[in-house]
Amino acid sequence: MNYYSLNKQAPDTSFQKAVVRGLAPDKGLYFPETISPLPDSFFDNIESLSNTEIAFEAIKQFVLPEIPEAELKSIIEETLDFDFPIVEFNNQISTLELFHGPTMAFKDVGARFMARCLGYFNKSNTNEVTVLVATSGDTGGAVANGFLGVKGVKVVILYPSGKVSEIQEKQLTTLGHNITALEVDGVFDDCQDMVKKAFIDHELTDQMQLTSANSINIARWLPQLFYYLFAYKQLKSKYDDIAFSVPSGNFGNICAGMVAQKLGLPVKQFIASNNANDTVVNYMATQTYLAKPSVPTISNAMDVGNPSNFIRIQELHNHNFEDLKSNLSSFSYTDKETKEALLEINQLYNYIADPHGAVGYLGAKDYLKDNSAHVVFLETAHPTKFLDVVEEVIDTKVDLPPQIKAVMDKEKTAVKIESYEDLKNFLLDENRAL
Ligand SMILES: *Cc1c(COP(=O)(O)O)cnc(C)c1O
Repeated sequence: MNYYSLNKQAPDTSFQKAVVRGLAPDKGLYFPETISPLPDSFFDNIESLSNTEIAFEAIKQFVLPEIPEAELKSIIEETLDFDFPIVEFNNQISTLELFHGPTMAFKDVGARFMARCLGYFNKSNTNEVTVLVATSGDTGGAVANGFLGVKGVKVVILYPSGKVSEIQEKQLTTLGHNITALEVDGVFDDCQDMVKKAFIDHELTDQMQLTSANSINIARWLPQLFYYLFAYKQLKSKYDDIAFSVPSGNFGNICAGMVAQKLGLPVKQFIASNNANDTVVNYMATQTYLAKPSVPTISNAMDVGNPSNFIRIQELHNHNFEDLKSNLSSFSYTDKETKEALLEINQLYNYIADPHGAVGYLGAKDYLKDNSAHVVFLETAHPTKFLDVVEEVIDTKVDLPPQIKAVMDKEKTAVKIESYEDLKNFLLDENRAL
């Protein structure tokens, strides 16, 4: 499969190159040249397939033969060694729990898949790849964990000092081996700016292969389409019309759902559920796209003012606004509404959601005011990752799951940096030490 750059100013490239580069040389996002629907029999028989069989069938056209069939199967098996259960609230609303992976965030799937793809490509390649990531919390932990011990890949994570939760910081800073955490004296945007600068700094890129591990990378973005198939498998016999409400930040997850739809998955509607960062909601109302600086909220993994994957969503709809509008509804909610939803979910359904899932629940409810369907909202993180908010709102102590307990007892190791020069010197020193 070839991939083209959405900026159309760079040559088409292979899966391998697209994964290793992250972004095309013209700074565009890569996009698959074709998306071929799966046969009807796949959807007819989906209930008899295992999750790994479903995932293999769905992703093989994007990856084979650059990663051979047997290797791809084992990458998928290692990536998906946990559950993706549906919890039904009633006959209109369910949640799909995506937080049963090692760091309890849905990003575990994409991070693990991408790490293993890079690891495969590096077997025959003596050049190290350095993955640079800026994180506001969840991405860093999932990437660190996913890439731990992968040969030929070094991971450098930048996080804003004092701006991530204690649990998130421990997940980033306690792994060691090929993972280094840089604690930045600044906010998330400073981390992000430093990473962007590094990618265009020839003094660095001439000497080392740098790549990103956020959802612009196709190997992190595409595997997210599995979730929608796993939900369908569990609900297909009960409901004819299924819609998905997706708590969205960079819009990678929802966009992957739309790829599943192109593969033939019947989806009545996608609902983008947002916090106060409402760039897409405004676009859908006015047809004018105005990126804004992000504003902080209690669902902080969605604090994105200029969602990088929205361009892929437009490509999937041939840049036709009316088509997009008929497939995508969008809503935005305040922190106050999110907290009320957390409480409502707890009281009505005896379920503990996290703030991101709660935003998804609100989107599901708003959609159902004017439409009928069974709406699945995605629970993208475990509630204990946002302990302060959740415990305060539902006024109950939440038990820490074993994955989290294990990491809390470990010792933090991080390198403090203050400026881009510090980052650059760190990378150059590391490279010299090889
Ligand atoms: C990253 C993240 C999101 C947003 O996902 P996108 O693909 O960026 O839209 C939502 N919830 C949680 C918990 C996340 O970590």
